[in-house]
Amino acid sequence: MNIVLLGAPGAGKGTQAALLEEKYGLVHISTGDIFRANIKGGTPIGKVAKSYIDAGKLVPDEVTCDIVKDRLTRDDVKSGFMLDGFPRNLFQAEELDKFARIDVCVNISVDFSLIMDRICGRRVCSCGASYHISSLGGRTTCEKCGKPLYQRADDNPETVGARLETYKTQTAPLIDYYKAQGKLLTVECGNATPAEVFAMICGKLDGLNK
Ligand code: ADP
Ligand code: ZN
Repeated sequence: MNIVLLGAPGAGKGTQAALLEEKYGLVHISTGDIFRANIKGGTPIGKVAKSYIDAGKLVPDEVTCDIVKDRLTRDDVKSGFMLDGFPRNLFQAEELDKFARIDVCVNISVDFSLIMDRICGRRVCSCGASYHISSLGGRTTCEKCGKPLYQRADDNPETVGARLETYKTQTAPLIDYYKAQGKLLTVECGNATPAEVFAMICGKLDGLNK
């Protein structure tokens, strides 16, 4: 099964992707993670991406599509993959349909009013784990691997506003794109915990296979 995870910044795509990877063995491909690794490594792609990411804008489509297309040529995706953060606009969705088969789009729907607090309170670990300060009780290290937690450079109030705007104008139209293809599964999060959201997603995915 090949899945697209759709949702506003801070909707919890990365958290759900980690859980889905564990349960279904799907390979997790996050364009945001790929860009951050490139920035850290000082690569040419990282240099291009940084200015866009810091401004809350989308990295140019050619760069982004090439990265995903290339990643999907690796053997490990043959038994199924999950795209987290891609596609993020209509052009990318149409390109993706040219080089891969997508079975389902899981749309994680959250109340926009929650997003600012979620993202600005987010602390992440290089292992991929993500926490909110309200549940850390002062801890500064990762529960899973013990490494120090840090705040992403783009997780600040100024950038979050721009990212939300980018989401509304460019990414949200993909909900209708996948609906029209009959591939859309929407999960309404409300105040649900990550575990509850995961249970809702699994219920919907398992329902598909019956
Ligand atoms: P979030 O979902 O919390 O915004 P991501 O890690 O998915 O975080 O993305 C961080 C940033 O990386 C985005 O704001 C954007 O600048 C860039 N980015 C990630 N995926 C894409 C994409 N598919 N197309 C263009 N830019 C992207
Ligand atoms: Zn960790």
